[in-house]
Amino acid sequence: MCLFRIFDYRFRLMKSHGDRIINILHVISFTLLMAMSLFFFIYEVWFILPILCETKSWSYTFYCSLSMYILHNIIGNFLMCWLTDNSMKSLPNYRQHPPPTEASFWHLCTKCQMMVPPRSWHCQACKRCTLKRDHHCTFAANCIGHNNHRYFICMLFHMSVGCGLCLVFNTIESYYAKSLFFADSLILFSIWGLIRQEIVDEHLWHIVSSCIIKLNFILTALVIAQLVYQLIILSRNSSCHRFKDCTYDQGFKKNVELIMGRRKFWVLLSPLLDSPLPHDGTKWQLTKHHL
Ligand SMILES: [Zn+2]
Ligand SMILES: [Zn+2]
Repeated sequence: MCLFRIFDYRFRLMKSHGDRIINILHVISFTLLMAMSLFFFIYEVWFILPILCETKSWSYTFYCSLSMYILHNIIGNFLMCWLTDNSMKSLPNYRQHPPPTEASFWHLCTKCQMMVPPRSWHCQACKRCTLKRDHHCTFAANCIGHNNHRYFICMLFHMSVGCGLCLVFNTIESYYAKSLFFADSLILFSIWGLIRQEIVDEHLWHIVSSCIIKLNFILTALVIAQLVYQLIILSRNSSCHRFKDCTYDQGFKKNVELIMGRRKFWVLLSPLLDSPLPHDGTKWQLTKHHL
């Protein structure tokens, strides 16, 4: 009964203040992702790497450069997810209406009051139809669809590599500092000790690094799970909305080109790499047995 009341209250809250809540969630999620990426970069480059190797050694320079490259890819792809327009307005005027030969494949969006191409769906948060809509990303405050799906997959890939690398560095540092399991059983006692200022600096560092490595582990697992999910979608040319649907499956190579563009997996190198998509997101060929 109590649970029902909570759901009912949530439903009424979303109905009356839905737009405001979504906008606040967008700002919080956007800031959180940017802040977490910058935090892990600074933590690894300024605190962990100098413990593991000499700051003047080639290995320190190499890992710093690699970290900067990964950060550039995460933030660059993330910004492109946010800034890329997936709506019907991204199409030239003459493509915003179905040509007679394609009209039977288009459907009416009752909210936008216009005909939209196959695989386009209305998004309640964006308040418009998105071309080949995959899902609405709260972090990017935008729908992931035909024009920015590539950036989303690349962002997940670099987040997985970045989180994995941080986990390796943090585990090695914690192993040598013997702080991996330090805080677990003593964390409440430790916080109490901190309040009473009974803990020396060395213990404080152990507690902090032990908490960060656990956060790092959880984030790595979440991001890799998301990446695997998206790679399955990529291999089938499906979407989150219809995960198991193979209606538009054109074979692995063609599916990669339809989502990543003509340069295929080379787009993983940088969000700045131009990779035109084979079509504008209105014409979707069916799998042979669906014809
Ligand atoms: Zn619509
Ligand atoms: Zn949306």
